[in-house]
Amino acid sequence: MSPGRKAIIIGAGPAGLAAALRLHQQTNIQVTIYELRAEPTTLGGAIGILPNGLRLLHRLGVYEKVAARGFTSSNLTLHSMQGHIVFQQDFVGWAREKTGFGYMRIKRTDLVDVLLEAVQQAKISIRFNKRLTTVEESDASVQVTFEDGSSDTADMLFGCDGIHSFVRRVYVDPKKTLEYSGMSGLGSIIPTSVLSPTTTAHITGLETTLTEDGMLAVNPCMAGKDEMFCFFSKEVTLPESGDSRDGWEVHRKEEVDGFKSTMLESLESAKGEWGDALREVLNNMSSVNFYPVYRLPPGGVWSKGRCLLVGDAAHAMSPHAGQGVSMALEDAFLLSRLLEDPKRPLDKVFDIYDRIRRPRVNEIFKLAARNAGVRRKTGPWGLWLKEVQISMAMILSSVFGADKRGLRQGHLVYDIDEVGLV
Ligand SMILES: Cc1cc2nc3c(=O)[nH]c(=O)nc-3n(C[C@H](O)[C@H](O)[C@H](O)COP(=O)(O)OP(=O)(O)OC[C@H]3O[C@@H](n4cnc5c(N)ncnc54)[C@H](O)[C@@H]3O)c2cc1C
Repeated sequence: MSPGRKAIIIGAGPAGLAAALRLHQQTNIQVTIYELRAEPTTLGGAIGILPNGLRLLHRLGVYEKVAARGFTSSNLTLHSMQGHIVFQQDFVGWAREKTGFGYMRIKRTDLVDVLLEAVQQAKISIRFNKRLTTVEESDASVQVTFEDGSSDTADMLFGCDGIHSFVRRVYVDPKKTLEYSGMSGLGSIIPTSVLSPTTTAHITGLETTLTEDGMLAVNPCMAGKDEMFCFFSKEVTLPESGDSRDGWEVHRKEEVDGFKSTMLESLESAKGEWGDALREVLNNMSSVNFYPVYRLPPGGVWSKGRCLLVGDAAHAMSPHAGQGVSMALEDAFLLSRLLEDPKRPLDKVFDIYDRIRRPRVNEIFKLAARNAGVRRKTGPWGLWLKEVQISMAMILSSVFGADKRGLRQGHLVYDIDEVGLV
């Protein structure tokens, strides 16, 4: 390890915090994190993390703390509007056997809190309230300045500043533009204490229901089932005013205001105890967030000079593969492993990083886009057909033992630490 290398990380989300922790574990690079917000963000609902990501949280030394906050169960159920169960399965069973990790739903704030606590325990420097305004490079270093007039200099800069990344827009790849995926999400966190014991007993894992408009899911997001995350994924067309922030604000208000009544209307025909449970969950939502899903189309540039984009800043994708956080963790692990050898030049580090991460990211991007398909709007026959197709696929998979051979779970056992570097 060479002494004295210094890195600046922009952004204290999962990518930035994980990169800082891994670099601290594996290298002697001195890291400073700069975060735009005044304090850890309260945004973001609850996220699902799959085995490939949970395994990396374990290697970061934070898995126990994350598991103490989140809800772990890989029991996936698809309920029909008619009140019966279309299928129920341990949807990551094969991957859990291989990796030792299953599926967890955790509030984004809890995940970030645990990572932040680990960063602070490791005495990694972190500064809040820092809005980046410029990035400049000389032969020997990269310099950043912030809105408050402060500045810093380092050997390398990692843009972990999310989908709207300033580092990407003003420095690494200004030509790259976001695209709207056509899908949006509405979500709410509900304390379980407001629900009846009968409804609570029905919610044992990831409970999904297809409606003509999209997919409704309820999943506990706290250990002990103290809180539930209820979210609805659906197709939403761009507002008439175009893809502008104002347009979305109007749309956001319409979606949020209308959400409960529209949902309750479309669930009027939902039968059985599950129908009653869904109506109770919806009636007990006190606030709803609306998230139009944007993504970065594959391609583009991830590095320039001494700067590299990591996590959503490089490859934001739609959330329907549940892999955003895991992709950020894999990025952070590979980056750190490549920097472990102080003799490896930075341009070589970025080249190898690109060559290894590109195919993996593209594969997961495609998977997420494919998974979005089942959430698209349809009519009564289309809904029936979707349910029949899904249940046939499940039966065939069980008859031919495909679920036991890990079909469709290969990407969940991918281990970034095992990938060869040359
Ligand atoms: C509706 C929805 C549902 C999702 N569900 C899942 C899921 O179930 N599972 C999953 O794995 N992923 C999910 N994701 C994706 C996941 O949230 C992201 O992939 C993940 O948060 C990426 O982490 P990141 O650190 O790269 O970016 P972010 O989480 O966006 O963090 C970026 C950080 O950088 C800071 N920042 C931004 N600009 C600057 C600046 N100029 N200067 C300093 N700091 C800055 C931000 O304040 C933030 O703290 C979902 C996303 C959405 C929108």
